Amino acid sequence: MTAKKYAVIGHPIEHSKSPLIHQAFAQQFNLSIVYEKVLAPLDGFMATVKRLQAEGFLGANVTVPFKFEAFDASQALSARAQAAGAVNTLSFQSSQLVGDNTDGCGLVNDILKHQHTALAGKKVLLLGAGGAAQGVMLPLLEQQPLQLTVANRSLDKAQAMADRFAADAERSRTVLQVHTFADLSQTYDVVINATSAGLTESKLAIPAVVFKPGMLAYDMMYGRETPFMQQARAAGAQVADGLGMLVEQAAEAFSLWHGVRPETAPVIQSFRQS
Ligand code: NDP
Repeated sequence: MTAKKYAVIGHPIEHSKSPLIHQAFAQQFNLSIVYEKVLAPLDGFMATVKRLQAEGFLGANVTVPFKFEAFDASQALSARAQAAGAVNTLSFQSSQLVGDNTDGCGLVNDILKHQHTALAGKKVLLLGAGGAAQGVMLPLLEQQPLQLTVANRSLDKAQAMADRFAADAERSRTVLQVHTFADLSQTYDVVINATSAGLTESKLAIPAVVFKPGMLAYDMMYGRETPFMQQARAAGAQVADGLGMLVEQAAEAFSLWHGVRPETAPVIQSFRQS
């Protein structure tokens, strides 16, 4: 039998760990798959997708900067992709492009399963209002936190994002609030950094009061200790990076494509060791 073919499309793409993660999952089921890194030209996302379809690929993960283009190109969308306004997983079904977004459930699964932290009834602070923050809003609200505060450098973006999810918050009976970083004055049970400030080693101007000993401080970035993580650690918080989210979002994509759910803990562990 010929191996089923998948890919991750991005620009840049060389750094992507997705091929290693998907191959580690495939090994768990003795599946033989092809999973390639594909660099699409910045103006050539759709041409790349069409080429992969023509070459018999069955699906693709999509990463920076193409998640919004993948959303626009999808002919059918899951509810969570619709809510996120972005697509990170494409399935090529009989020439139709089906878009999904597994980032949010990747984050929530990591927090619940690997950080051993419940979100129901908790006070949660989400920092950032970009694509990653928007993608996690619905999965976070579905956990029914007591309160979800969104804080962003640009307040208008945080407000627009909160407005978009007001009905979901009401359904979850979650108090949804919007603040600038400087306005934050409460202590939270969980703080999630969905800004890209860590990429430039920038310190976020958030007051120390948001942290307390034992709470969870989660940075979606992975691969290095960010100033956010250092600040949270100094305040006694339990600190996590985004590696678990990366592996969990891949697991969700893998189960969409292959119909089986891989074990994530050993894959996360082996990446940490290497
Ligand atoms: P976007 O560019 O869409 O959004 C960036 C966000 O960061 C905005 O809210 C922006 O604020 C804020 N920001 C950027 N620089 C600063 C700064 N110096 N100080 C304060 N706020 C700042 O990026 P994404 O949402 O796509 O990605 C955010 C992060 O999440 C990245 O680090 C990415 O690597 C990570 N990520 C991790 C995943 C995983 O699987 N672990 C999956 C997806 C993303 P403003 O609106 O004011 O500009």
